[in-house]
Amino acid sequence: MTLNLNTPISLIPGIGYRYKDALNQRGIHKAKDLLFYFPFRYDDFSEIKKIKDLRLGEKVTIEATLKGIQKKESFRRRMVIIEGVVSDDSGSLKIVWFNQPYLLTALQTGKTYRFSGKVDFNGGMLVLGNPSFEKNDNPTVNTGSLLPIYHEDRLLTSRWLRGKIFPLLSLADKIPETLPQIILKKFSLLGLSESIKEVHFPSSAEKRDQSRRRLAFEELFLIQLYLSSQKLKWQANPAPEIPIKIDLIKKFLKKLPFKLTYAQRKAAWEIVQDLNKNYPMNRLLEGDVGSGKTVVSAIAALAVANEGFQTVFLAPTEILAIQHFKTLKKILADFFSKEEIGVFTRSKQETAKKKETKEALIKKIKQGKIKIISGTHAILQENIQFNNLGFVIIDEQHRFGVEQRSNLQKKIKEIGKSIPHLLSMSATPIPRTLALAVYSDLDLSILNELPMGRQKIITRIIPPVKRGDMYEFIRSEVKKGRQIFVICPLVEDKNTVTEEVYPFLTHDYTKLSEQEVKAAVKEQEILQTKVFPEFKVGLLHGRMKGKDKEKIMMDFKAKKTQILVSTSVVEVGVDIPNATVMLIEGAERFGLAQLHQFRGRVGRGKHQSYCFLLLSEGSIKANQRLNAIVKCEDGFALAEQDLKIRGPGEFIGTRQSGLPDLTMANLSDSELIKNAKEGAELIHSLGKDLGSFPILKKRLESFEKEFHGE
Ligand code: ADP
Ligand code: MG
Repeated sequence: MTLNLNTPISLIPGIGYRYKDALNQRGIHKAKDLLFYFPFRYDDFSEIKKIKDLRLGEKVTIEATLKGIQKKESFRRRMVIIEGVVSDDSGSLKIVWFNQPYLLTALQTGKTYRFSGKVDFNGGMLVLGNPSFEKNDNPTVNTGSLLPIYHEDRLLTSRWLRGKIFPLLSLADKIPETLPQIILKKFSLLGLSESIKEVHFPSSAEKRDQSRRRLAFEELFLIQLYLSSQKLKWQANPAPEIPIKIDLIKKFLKKLPFKLTYAQRKAAWEIVQDLNKNYPMNRLLEGDVGSGKTVVSAIAALAVANEGFQTVFLAPTEILAIQHFKTLKKILADFFSKEEIGVFTRSKQETAKKKETKEALIKKIKQGKIKIISGTHAILQENIQFNNLGFVIIDEQHRFGVEQRSNLQKKIKEIGKSIPHLLSMSATPIPRTLALAVYSDLDLSILNELPMGRQKIITRIIPPVKRGDMYEFIRSEVKKGRQIFVICPLVEDKNTVTEEVYPFLTHDYTKLSEQEVKAAVKEQEILQTKVFPEFKVGLLHGRMKGKDKEKIMMDFKAKKTQILVSTSVVEVGVDIPNATVMLIEGAERFGLAQLHQFRGRVGRGKHQSYCFLLLSEGSIKANQRLNAIVKCEDGFALAEQDLKIRGPGEFIGTRQSGLPDLTMANLSDSELIKNAKEGAELIHSLGKDLGSFPILKKRLESFEKEFHGE
């Protein structure tokens, strides 16, 4: 039968039901899917050498005739060894295969083959170990070239996959080109068919790189097209135009006990200008912990409420929502009556004037009596109706999961009669290039400086022998009335994906492993019973119920506990100005940006604060990396370094960002990301609905489905 792109894989010769199931599990159902199953690296066996020129350790291909072959059994190691002797016109060589008894009949003495493998040393002479082979007059699928390496398991080996994909290559010509000619030309990209052939079986290293660049470009380009079409859709909605009232803002600033930083002024200005437009803002305000995002957002809330529109201030936890409520009622006291500012969480409903019942507060919101309401997602769950919602602030937006975030957007559209302006805030500094790659539907404001007079946090790597001294130091701090955070190390679950499978996804901070919880429980016990029996040591971990977490944080804030042991999923954003020591166990397991976040939990009050890093494996390499954080206090600079060292997974697990898995693109390739963005802008400038590019349009539609997990 003749194969085509849509032939089910079960009809492809050599794919039995076991292979079919294994392939199905990887999402491969049709011949076409096999072609789109790309290798992630290559073994270079393109160098063909004479036997006499072989050197120990090199990966080579030889062309030689099989002179003899025999089986040996190693009972001790329970292994079947096949030994062959081959020769070419320069000499002869022994070849050794392990546990492949079928080779005894598969290889024929007297025939000439290409063998590709690594040159080893065995029994006093050079041998070729476990080489792949094929007859010298066959095409180079498994030997003698840049050999594609796929993600393997026991069944689906690269060798097997090559054998199945190679015969399908001619079908690649039938795959329609997704990228418009104008894009291919502008960015000097290979065509799709050629790229698919070259990515599996490259004719040269150069072509391999070109094909990978082209395939990576397509992924990034689709993301950019998607994001920019989202942006256009968002901006097509009407929103209240909030006039810029300079005097009002000046009056507000005068009342503050401090002067805004330059970065705060700039961000506030960008935001009020957005509010002044007749379509909704969608902006991300990014700034290190303590950079003063709240006051910037309060300026915007003031401007909006002053025009009679309502503002919702959403926080991921109850403690934070209450903290914001307190801040807002203080700094906005001169501008609104006490009944106009409120807080709504699962367990707390109040205005700045008095406690309310849930029903009463909901009613006041509906009537428009409340102008600014701080709260958790309880606000969304309760289906509260607003009178005239004009502005939504989402604090610590990265703490809301992907699903929560897309729900949020839907809800926001429901509760408001028109689409409100939207300001998201995040304390995770995302390097510029990465933000460009995955947040280009948002406008970005950055607070890249801390308010003046913030004291420097003293950061030290603590060698194991100094652990006792460190505990004594901590004891003296607690005796002075200070408080301590202890963060337990990350523990990878055995079944979490390996770095090789998803190189861009190293650790999903929203997920907590069982062992991690156990480690924290144990640490708390040790500290409480063995090290600090005279103090109260609290425990917080991500598997606890929200209510319990809140209570533990409240107890800590109220100084009922002096030391708080926590897993890495520590509550963010909560201000504990009295905490002066951040102790991080297993510090080498964290990214620099993450460590920096932890460090930002202390140094918020007037006391000198400290960050102590303890290593679980005291390697020199870890030390070198961590030195960056000892020396550097700039979250963005650390984030850039992290991106280089550890890849983008630190900032955005794809699961967190909601992006579909990228197989080819590297989110730190800023050049290609820029190209993709430019390309998307070009295409949109030629017509917003992609009318002239039907194939691309279809591709984008299926891509969007992946985005929404349909
Ligand atoms: P974050 O950006 O982490 O949300 P906050 O908004 O909670 O930071 O601000 C942290 C602290 O810094 C608050 O106590 C706030 O009052 C204070 N603050 C904000 N801006 C300034 C400034 N320009 N100068 C001095 N203190 C400031
Ligand atoms: Mg904050």
